[in-house]
Amino acid sequence: MKVIVPVKRVIDYNVKARVKPDQTGVDLANVKMSMNPFDEIAVEEAIRMKEAGNVTEIIAVSIGPQQAQETIRTALAMGADRGILVKTDETVEPLAVAKILKAIVGQENPELVLLGKQAIDDDCNQTGQMLAALLDWPQGTFASEVKFADGKLQVTREIDGGLQTIEINTPAIVTADLRLNEPRYASLPNIMKAKKKPIDMKSPEDYQVDVTPRLNVLKVTEPEKREAGVKVENAAELVKKLREEAGVI
Ligand code: AMP
Repeated sequence: MKVIVPVKRVIDYNVKARVKPDQTGVDLANVKMSMNPFDEIAVEEAIRMKEAGNVTEIIAVSIGPQQAQETIRTALAMGADRGILVKTDETVEPLAVAKILKAIVGQENPELVLLGKQAIDDDCNQTGQMLAALLDWPQGTFASEVKFADGKLQVTREIDGGLQTIEINTPAIVTADLRLNEPRYASLPNIMKAKKKPIDMKSPEDYQVDVTPRLNVLKVTEPEKREAGVKVENAAELVKKLREEAGVI
């Protein structure tokens, strides 16, 4: 069984994002970029499925600039088998990503596409769902556990206040949530081996997908600055401050 894992190159989760002075977006100049953390979890899950004998090949796909090749190399160093880079310098919105992935699915015939639940740069949480709709495949989103059972997939989903376990037929779409697993670090020998693994170079035109953005971002703003807290000596002082300074009691 083949698995496709889409991996997005995004601003590193440890970097404090700064909004550009003209409020058109986040300043990415000289900023560390990495694989979207939920995609690392998806790659890890695919590798565990392969180690368990349920998966034969893992294909990492990234849609983005030339540097997204490094993101694919990271997936290959973790244990993916080959990559596809769909190169574009445009901002590609979830619908266009889903259309490109649909075309790749048409060529590769995987049984499973395992995505991150959300990209931490646009926070859209849309691509997996859109791909499921375009392919007319079942989907298990926000997965915290995925099991194979009698040719089907059992997906435990993180929902408000609890967990829901569903059974879906394959081929299917699954999106990875935070608690699905803890991704491994690539070992040095595997990083070296990954350099020899193949990456196909493609463009959106190869899949006849127009990636022109459909959304117009009007404004991006920083969250309001929070004031530093103060330490109080005792409960009496806390009550006094809440009453006299904060005016909340
Ligand atoms: P989003 O809908 O933008 O929050 O993204 C959800 C998931 O779709 C991500 O975690 C990735 O697995 C996948 N994805 C989105 N954009 C891309 C991209 N440009 N390249 C590869 N995968 C992507």
